[in-house]
Amino acid sequence: MQQKKTPPQRVAHGFCRDCGEEHAFYEGEARVHCRELMRFLEQEERIDLHAGTGEDTSRLSTASLYGEARGKMFGVMVCRTTDGSTRILRAFSGQYNGLWEVQGWAPPLFDVTAFNRIYTEIEPRIKDLGRAILLTEPHSSPWTELIRERKQLSRQWMRDIHSLYTLTNFRGEERSLTDAFARNGGIPTGTGDCCAPKLFNQAVKEHLTPLGMAEFYWGRENSSQTRHHGQFYPSCANKCAPILGFVLCGLEETLKKRADNTCRPW
Ligand SMILES: [Zn+2]
Ligand SMILES: [Zn+2]
Repeated sequence: MQQKKTPPQRVAHGFCRDCGEEHAFYEGEARVHCRELMRFLEQEERIDLHAGTGEDTSRLSTASLYGEARGKMFGVMVCRTTDGSTRILRAFSGQYNGLWEVQGWAPPLFDVTAFNRIYTEIEPRIKDLGRAILLTEPHSSPWTELIRERKQLSRQWMRDIHSLYTLTNFRGEERSLTDAFARNGGIPTGTGDCCAPKLFNQAVKEHLTPLGMAEFYWGRENSSQTRHHGQFYPSCANKCAPILGFVLCGLEETLKKRADNTCRPW
């Protein structure tokens, strides 16, 4: 029987400097599982997939997605385990109401304790400088000095935060965010916090083979009106593409090998 084939939907890609070529990843069957997650979010109005875990459930409500904070990207990845069964991974982009870690969701690419340590150390210093700047005569030399100091501290902060992120690819190679970022210029804030890198990271760590992925937006449209409730979007061009070339390295070969094995007629 001849089945009508639609071209596979490319959802993630990036240029790999090691191979000198573009690596890509496709949607597969992920939309079906996204729709299941959408139904859950719609019906339950919360993101705790395992209710009754004793967590502060108010922070896990979806109410904030429709308010001032606006909506968020969610991602689903279909994976094959080493014993051949299917495993579904889920991720939300960035933090969820201030939470980096929620049970049942892909963890961030860094150690949260170390992240919080840097945050609590530098954030009050930046705030102090901000207050001092307000109390100083604008464009005077002490003012210029304070502005310079704040800029330097923010830059240091970003560098410290970025150094916490570790990316692992499908060849088992590890690289820092700075080393993996394959584009000139600064690393945009929030790089590595999108759904795609979180999902690939969890798959690598748990020895899973990703077969498909899809990302959708949920909640009040973003301020630039580029993301709408319930719509699917490929991984982003400015933060994800520059790191996914490294992350996806080795995956195509793994998938090809698997396809060869499963296609044997005996
Ligand atoms: Zn992204
Ligand atoms: Zn490569």
